[in-house]
Amino acid sequence: MVKSIVSIVKGDNAKQMVEEALNHLGGVKALIKEGSTVVIKPNGGHEGTPESSVCTSPAVVKAVIEVIRQANPKKIILAEAAAIGCDTMKCLEVSGIKNAAEEAGIDEIIDIKSDTDLVRKRIQNPGSKIKNVKLPRFLIEADHIINVPIFKTHVSMVFTCALKNIKGVVQDTVHGLMHMTNLAAAMMDLWSVIRADLSIADLIRPMEGFGPHTTGTPVDFGCIVASKDPVALDATVCRMIGLAIDDVDYFTAAREKGIGLIDESDIEIRGNTIKEVYKKLYLPYLDGFGAWPEYNFHIENACSSCQGLLAYSMAKLKLLDEYDKNKGIDIVLGRKRDILENIKYGKDLLLIGDCTKTLKKKIEAAGKTCVHVNGCPPGEPHPYWAITDRIDMPDQRTPEQIRIRHEAENDILIERLKAQKSK
Ligand code: SF4
Repeated sequence: MVKSIVSIVKGDNAKQMVEEALNHLGGVKALIKEGSTVVIKPNGGHEGTPESSVCTSPAVVKAVIEVIRQANPKKIILAEAAAIGCDTMKCLEVSGIKNAAEEAGIDEIIDIKSDTDLVRKRIQNPGSKIKNVKLPRFLIEADHIINVPIFKTHVSMVFTCALKNIKGVVQDTVHGLMHMTNLAAAMMDLWSVIRADLSIADLIRPMEGFGPHTTGTPVDFGCIVASKDPVALDATVCRMIGLAIDDVDYFTAAREKGIGLIDESDIEIRGNTIKEVYKKLYLPYLDGFGAWPEYNFHIENACSSCQGLLAYSMAKLKLLDEYDKNKGIDIVLGRKRDILENIKYGKDLLLIGDCTKTLKKKIEAAGKTCVHVNGCPPGEPHPYWAITDRIDMPDQRTPEQIRIRHEAENDILIERLKAQKSK
């Protein structure tokens, strides 16, 4: 059996690391055809600054473009479809990716969400409810797609790296549908029709804690990991950060779809060894919302932004000794068509996010009340405050008052998290 090769390079210079990682795979000239069209797909799906590790670091994007250029491609395109509700170009600007790509001489930047030349692709033997996807023609016709994810913790998938980053090649309709079916299987379905031929993962400052958005914590890790096989890459990254393969859904779905290799004996590591770079990351989502059994969650159809905020709020309740005081309440996220059965009302029912506005109206029309948190996504501290204070959010607080309370709580939270990690 031919093994999948994964290269791991530890260092402090992004360009040298990318170059070396590709050298371990045969070198950029062997990987990229001269005169070809190359599409680079970073993780630029949310408005996160370079310091936040919400998106692939601009330094890595710049390094990838500069190294790919050495193979003399005809054109290098950077393409992304930001998360639902997010403006792709704004995300690329805030993350520093747009600027970095321009500095590296990118030929074109494309917002996949506004692309109109789409081709329908039928998925053979789908493992999810997604039977067809519409994909941009330029992507299908590209000679090479290079997947450039960042590793982050992820509330609905435990983590996001090479496999999940492919979700950013579809427009909002398919993106939304993927969240309403088995997400891991839907991602493998997508990989079966649009295959990045190379993945270069940014683990220079990956995110641990309550990712994948603003509540996660960047960690100095100093690695670039590259492979032609995204499954082998993600499996290797799991081994680098102390996450058991069986604890995540991706690999079962990949096995079922026959995509990539997972077992250590089927993967050849080049460059640094896993042992040399190993660092355990804090991954709080292994038990999902089952980690807080004293609360009633109704989270179907909610995207990762609201789920992440809620998970962060639940951890905050525990760490700030508020968890027991609020046990037994119902918390609702995501679009719901009807009033749910067997839920409490009044101050024991919390609806989070703009998606729940319709449900709120129905509840009020039925003569009942609830606590509601506005926003898409809501402000970072608001779900937590709505649980502890049992009032609608945002309330009358000034921005300064919000900042003072939020920072004071976060200081305690960070202290207690550190103490928990060091045990
Ligand atoms: S309200 Fe929440 S669940 Fe709905 S789209 Fe916005 S962030 Fe996602």
